[in-house]
Amino acid sequence: MSGGAGVGTAAGAGAGAGADVQDGKVDVAIIGAGIAGAAVAYWLTRLDPSLSVTLVERDTGFAQASSQRSASSIRQQFSSPANIRMSQFGLAFLREAADRLEVEGDRPELGLRTPGYLYLATPPQADALRAQNVVQRAHDAPIELLAPEALATRFPWLETDDLALGALGAGAEGWFDGPALHAAMLRRARAQGARLVRGEVAGFDFDGTGDARRVSALRLADGRRIACGHAVIAAGAWSRPVAAHAGIALPVHARRRTVFVFSCPEPLNDCPLVIDPTGFWFRPEGRAFIGGTTPEPDEDDLPLEPNLEEFDETLWAAFAHRVPAFEALRIERAWAGYYEMNLWDHNALLGAHPSVANLQFATGFSGHGMQQAPAAGLGVAECILHGGWRTLDLSDLSVARLAEGRRVLEANVIG
Ligand SMILES: Cc1cc2nc3c(=O)[nH]c(=O)nc-3n(C[C@H](O)[C@H](O)[C@H](O)COP(=O)(O)OP(=O)(O)OC[C@H]3O[C@@H](n4cnc5c(N)ncnc54)[C@H](O)[C@@H]3O)c2cc1C
Repeated sequence: MSGGAGVGTAAGAGAGAGADVQDGKVDVAIIGAGIAGAAVAYWLTRLDPSLSVTLVERDTGFAQASSQRSASSIRQQFSSPANIRMSQFGLAFLREAADRLEVEGDRPELGLRTPGYLYLATPPQADALRAQNVVQRAHDAPIELLAPEALATRFPWLETDDLALGALGAGAEGWFDGPALHAAMLRRARAQGARLVRGEVAGFDFDGTGDARRVSALRLADGRRIACGHAVIAAGAWSRPVAAHAGIALPVHARRRTVFVFSCPEPLNDCPLVIDPTGFWFRPEGRAFIGGTTPEPDEDDLPLEPNLEEFDETLWAAFAHRVPAFEALRIERAWAGYYEMNLWDHNALLGAHPSVANLQFATGFSGHGMQQAPAAGLGVAECILHGGWRTLDLSDLSVARLAEGRRVLEANVIG
């Protein structure tokens, strides 16, 4: 099971968790050891093994972490070049993960499958899908456009009467075992020297004032203090309260998403991850399927329990319309997790903050964080090491855009 199966498991916890904070100053202290924090730690310790890197995580069992509750899918069907680049990098990383993340002969199995995403459009939506396809192809994303007849031939189980177009990224998009990636990234980062400390960050100490302020230490809720050269906020859906400790207003909100696991008596051959024109999605998961939609209303901080009514009220009829065989589907179980939703523009917030030069961000992924973490981690690590973007130009996604009033225009947000 690639999504949610690891809920509550101790990905990477164990030895070292709960250790006392070391004396002296660490080069980099990372707040949160989900996939984002783990990826920053992995790249930092890989690029410069002499660095001292400490991850501070309040729950080393990761019971609520989004990285253990993800649908763990990866696509190139974005409309903005930065997002396409990040996911292409993520796909290449996943393909090499067994080598990159191997520890003492243990090579992680991430179960990557690439049947593609299938975006479906009604007649009024078709031009937008075509326009995005031009951008995607210009950035080497191999996305094929399919007319309704071609869709019906390729996917005979799909209702196509109300469709004008589909866009499919077979071979370049799909899904993987996200909790396993998280565990393997954290394990490898620790094998490369990163330390994992159990504790809740409850404040910062600063040197200097105004825009010359620099973080000098993290303050933990139990009174401990970690002096650091750089700090990274990678606290997922909880990044806003952490940033508030530094006097920074971050538009990242915890928005609950329910994932339904269901079975269908009829097999759907070659089923990709389908994005319906109405907004819901589903994909195969082993012999079953998983799927979900954007809740309406979409409120902050709802308890992390699946909303089963969502299925009866909106999803079931929509599923059965798009795939008549789903008339006979059976709900097996469901889980819920938080999107760390960036309400400014629904895209990642990365890099150094303009008002605190040594405070970095790796958050706000808004539902893309599992696939974007390998690229985001490298980008943030290089910002710390070199003072700017290097391998990947992620400047479009810089957290500085909040102060600049700039938005990333990404049309393909899966709410
Ligand atoms: C239902 C669902 C489906 C998804 N589907 C996909 C998908 O298909 N593809 C995709 O790419 N992404 C998907 N995502 C998004 C992806 O899972 C997230 O973007 C990603 O896991 C975020 O990782 P993170 O490390 O930022 O956050 P988390 O994994 O939540 O980690 C943050 C960590 O910070 C810790 N923390 C918080 N505050 C503090 C503090 N004060 N002190 C110390 N520690 C703290 C928390 O305990 C937590 O462990 C999905 C998410 C959900 C919920």
